[in-house]
Amino acid sequence: MKSKMILLMGGQGVGKGTHARRLIARDGYGYVETGAILRALPPESPVAQIMARGELVPDSDLFGVIADAIKNNPGDIILDGFPRTVGQAQWLVKNYADKFDIRVVYMNVPEDIMLARIEKRIREGGGRADDADAAIVRRRLDSFWRITMPAIEWLRTAQGIRFADVDVSAEDVDVNFTRISNALD
Ligand code: ADP
Repeated sequence: MKSKMILLMGGQGVGKGTHARRLIARDGYGYVETGAILRALPPESPVAQIMARGELVPDSDLFGVIADAIKNNPGDIILDGFPRTVGQAQWLVKNYADKFDIRVVYMNVPEDIMLARIEKRIREGGGRADDADAAIVRRRLDSFWRITMPAIEWLRTAQGIRFADVDVSAEDVDVNFTRISNALD
């Protein structure tokens, strides 16, 4: 049987990390958290400077890093924050659909709720530099709509994978988690 690969996709503040951790606690998936992997690179690296500006890291800088992370997590895995471009989505399906049962969960939330959740994350002291600056948050959201939404739309109809569009705009995290769990059944 193929291992499962769950792609958690959605804009900033939709709760990808929160729900990834819940799924992992329950089912024991390996976790590929793209933002955290990239944040672990030295601050003087070109990638760190791109991230500080709120821009997307070029696909060519990412494929090796993601391929290594997938290799280091045998068994069922969750990818959080990857893919984010049509190129990344196509690369993933091309190289991994034969080895994994790929399940996309598009965590669908209106933008005003994303913004409110990012503000809450700042208030509660998450302390991420790229969250604290409103202009950079705006740039990340713009790139979500402009660059990542087309990747989500491409995956919606891609062959050989399964796609779920899940409304996670409820106030109650448990309600959203149940919706995600049901979509993955
Ligand atoms: P957020 O989802 O709030 O933007 P992440 O921690 O997922 O936060 O990502 C932080 C930064 O890392 C992004 O702003 C971007 O610069 C970079 N990054 C993360 N994932 C990707 C990706 N798949 N492609 C390109 N850049 C990425």
